[in-house]
Amino acid sequence: MKKHTHKVGLVGTGNVGIAGAYAMVCQNICPELILVDLDRQRAEAEAMDLMHGQGYLGRLTVRAGDYADLSECQVVIVTAGAAQRPGETRLDLLQKNARIFEKIAAELDRHAPTARLIIATNPVDILTYLMQEMSDRPRHHIIGTGTMLDTSRFRSLLGAHYGVDPRSVHGYILGEHGDSEFPAWSTLTLGGETPVDRVILGRTWDSTAMDALFVEVRDAAYRIIEGKGYTNLAIGLVIARLTQIILDDLRSVQPVSVRLEGDYGLQDVALSVPAVIGANGREGIVHLDLPEEEQNALQASGKILRENLSQIGF
Ligand code: NAD
Repeated sequence: MKKHTHKVGLVGTGNVGIAGAYAMVCQNICPELILVDLDRQRAEAEAMDLMHGQGYLGRLTVRAGDYADLSECQVVIVTAGAAQRPGETRLDLLQKNARIFEKIAAELDRHAPTARLIIATNPVDILTYLMQEMSDRPRHHIIGTGTMLDTSRFRSLLGAHYGVDPRSVHGYILGEHGDSEFPAWSTLTLGGETPVDRVILGRTWDSTAMDALFVEVRDAAYRIIEGKGYTNLAIGLVIARLTQIILDDLRSVQPVSVRLEGDYGLQDVALSVPAVIGANGREGIVHLDLPEEEQNALQASGKILRENLSQIGF
């Protein structure tokens, strides 16, 4: 593969994949985007639709293709799979999507062995781990979107609560992208100051309100799915950002799903902790000094995910 082609592949052009494609095209992140889906007709139609934005965006190439067309891609995003249905947990999807991933891993290894992979299909932590097991490429070349979406929801709601730009709010949702995720309150800062147990911008820290805010973050997907059947727009922005970070070697610290090998006392499991992301995928892991309660929450997430992996023989 030529280095730094800035070409991007997308496997899965459903609601999530195409929201990612649209965000990338609007932000001019890559000169060429190749769409692969079991439903070739749909991929062709989506490519055509995106290409018709060139009158506003300038020249770019979006085309449908096969796995063989991904050979020069620097990044391949995987959003293929079954979507979460109302009332279904992310872990319910596991068996279905594991089978799909086996096929995708083989195709990507054959045709795009040097590409960095971004996994978004749910359950994302387990499928990131499975892709690392199923693919021959180095494990750090495969990362999951993890709690980037949940962290964006968290920052959005906190920004609204304090009346500030959410980009001035820092702090993470960590652990599983799912029911056992937790807010790492110890990492929360507002313009550099920790709001926990303080008055900031006239707002007293209200732990009941903050607990409710976290529940809103954690259960957001269920509520959105109830209303429109799927979530796709915010995860589309996450996909675009993560792709850009890798393409441009930004070495940005993000809460993404990475495999832990002794980090935070966890082994053989992928979940979200802050990691440095660059051209090589996961370049490093940030080791936060979490208080005991948050350490325990991370361990609990790790335990749930490890048990799920064991149930399917990994
Ligand atoms: P969707 O059903 O709209 O799209 C899935 C696409 O995958 C379809 O176009 C289908 O044809 C394709 N596909 C299925 N098997 C394939 C295969 N073997 N090869 C190629 N393509 C294949 O679903 P969606 O709403 O886009 O959701 C996709 C996934 O993203 C789901 O698992 C969903 O839970 C997940 N998701 C993740 C996050 C996150 O934060 N990581 C957020 C929202 C949704």
